[in-house]
Amino acid sequence: MELKDYVKTIPDFPKEGIQFKDITPLIADGQALRYAVKQLADYSREKDADLIVGPDARGFIMGTPVATALNIGFVPVRKPGKLPRNTYTETFMLEYGEAALSIHKDDIKTGQRVVIVDDLLATGGTIEATIKLVEKSGGNVVGIAFLIELAALKGRHRIHQYPVHSLLVY
Ligand code: AMP
Repeated sequence: MELKDYVKTIPDFPKEGIQFKDITPLIADGQALRYAVKQLADYSREKDADLIVGPDARGFIMGTPVATALNIGFVPVRKPGKLPRNTYTETFMLEYGEAALSIHKDDIKTGQRVVIVDDLLATGGTIEATIKLVEKSGGNVVGIAFLIELAALKGRHRIHQYPVHSLLVY
């Protein structure tokens, strides 16, 4: 199956100069979604994951079915103010301005093997913050899997000490 056929590139969204990768046609297609989840699940199984972690919000869409396929749990990394119990928070730079992400302090057990799943690797800021949150929580990041990697933005360099796997590279 050619997954790229299900990803639409939208020029100048949400602002001028950004080539937005729209994955909604892929997740709206049963076969394409199942195929993509299977590839991400195969990778996570190879890494012997105990837990899948996914960042807000497309990491939830891709990460939860991967966890289900492996019969393991899923932990969300959310925008601040959404998680009700004690959290760790990491602030990071976006193209314009700052963003932050939080995790419940006790959602990961010390030493658990974590695979992080997200839709897309761009500059790597989101995933770097997610890695820090997993490690603060005592988790061991054994792999990071993306549906899409935008190679020109060199996000992979920022997380070079971790195994990274992308299904589609642009
Ligand atoms: P970054 O922190 O720069 O790696 O960007 C991470 C998140 O921003 C990704 O998980 C995407 O959800 C979103 N994102 C960044 N660039 C794009 C793009 N060109 N198309 C679609 N989503 C993007």
